[in-house]
Amino acid sequence: MTAWSLKLDAIVVGAGVIGITAALELQQRGLKVMLLDQQSVAQGCSFVSAGVIYPGAFPSSTYYRIPELPAAFFKASSSAALDWRSAPGLLSWCVQYARATRSDMVWHGTDLLHELCRDSLRSLELLLGSDLPPLSRCGHLAVHRSSCEVDRATCLNSIRTSLGAAVRIVSGGELAALEPAICRLALGPSAAGATFLAGAAHVTDTAAFVASLADVFVQRGGLLCFDRVQGLNSAGCGKVAVKCARGDYSPGTVVLATGAHSNRLLADCDHRIPLVAETGYHIELDVEPGFISRPVSLSGLGVVLTPSERGARISGLSHFGMPGFRARPDLLLSALDRVRKSLPGLRARPGFEVRSGERPSTPDSLPVIERVPGHGSIFVSTGHGHLGLTLAAVSAGILADLVTNGSSSYESELSSQRFSRSTNSAAVLRAA
Ligand SMILES: Cc1cc2nc3c(=O)[nH]c(=O)nc-3n(C[C@H](O)[C@H](O)[C@H](O)COP(=O)(O)OP(=O)(O)OC[C@H]3O[C@@H](n4cnc5c(N)ncnc54)[C@H](O)[C@@H]3O)c2cc1C
Repeated sequence: MTAWSLKLDAIVVGAGVIGITAALELQQRGLKVMLLDQQSVAQGCSFVSAGVIYPGAFPSSTYYRIPELPAAFFKASSSAALDWRSAPGLLSWCVQYARATRSDMVWHGTDLLHELCRDSLRSLELLLGSDLPPLSRCGHLAVHRSSCEVDRATCLNSIRTSLGAAVRIVSGGELAALEPAICRLALGPSAAGATFLAGAAHVTDTAAFVASLADVFVQRGGLLCFDRVQGLNSAGCGKVAVKCARGDYSPGTVVLATGAHSNRLLADCDHRIPLVAETGYHIELDVEPGFISRPVSLSGLGVVLTPSERGARISGLSHFGMPGFRARPDLLLSALDRVRKSLPGLRARPGFEVRSGERPSTPDSLPVIERVPGHGSIFVSTGHGHLGLTLAAVSAGILADLVTNGSSSYESELSSQRFSRSTNSAAVLRAA
């Protein structure tokens, strides 16, 4: 039987971590699901992820307020950059971002992100059961390289604690015992230390991890096909026509999990989400396996070192632009130069190149998971920014609630309508 002749309940477009977990969850709820991607599994942003599953997170607006943005974009040593050719297209997103920096919005986002992250590991376990690929659960270290960074971390840590995350500052001997190879990173003139987030987990190869999830989907009877979706058409009687390069499909439900490029297909539904590409980069480092035991982030430099199968990987940076803009691998190599000032031996592994991935980022750092307005059978799950791996299984549950029950307890908070009502919602949230 060909894929075209199959009676499908749902097609999920996009085989990144968000699409694959959505497909698994819909399958678990009894739907006949096909997963479609234009290239292969986990070759988009999910390939580049640092592989950390965070027990909590803050919205980007916690770190970058509007007055701080020019310095962030103009300073050569900054961890953020702007694709200037994209600037006109980014204007409306920036206006929404400015709103998201209001303190009531930051508090709301922090609360909600912590709540969603708290369920991340449990949701993965429930979704995969004994098929869950190996995860390491040995926490995450965020190294602070100045007293100013420690002050900021102390403030954020008190919020983390109040929201239930297990967190503490470590220094000296304990830091050396946890990660001997990198403890000199925290030994600046104003000797600092690190924040240890005990509840974090990580995977050593995100692309392989996500590919294993796709294998589980197929083993459980799911259909995985490679084709580019060129357009969507609501065909009446609850069906949608999905136009692909090599044929058309007509499933009962379509889920768009097309990452930073989601607005391309949403345009067929006259819908648009405030979404930009926040490109990040990664490269393998020339170190031995065991160099580090857990992810170590250098927040001041905007990068994370994660253990990998070969040794370790450096990932990070936030390079903003419109989806599809030209990536700049040199930004990561410059960041590596800055890390090398403290760890002189650190260099890229010969034969490996910098890979880039476009994080799908919303102004308030929260995902958009919704039924597309006016199109009862089309759903979208995108905008996971820095947290796609972390929030994948949680988002899949929310999405599946919308598809199978017609509602979700996060329906209002994660709908894109929040961007058009954000002015008034501030008062509502304060009252709540
Ligand atoms: C440097 C870096 C480090 C990161 N580290 C972490 C981390 O440690 N922890 C964490 O939780 N998150 C992390 N993230 C974020 C995470 O990687 C992303 O949030 C996540 O990968 C987004 O997944 P996605 O499935 O939405 O998008 P993608 O992985 O980009 O998948 C979208 C898929 O849709 C397909 N597609 C698009 N259009 C079409 C079409 N028309 N037809 C068919 N297919 C289509 C694409 O081919 C692609 O495969 C990191 C990101 C970066 C860049």
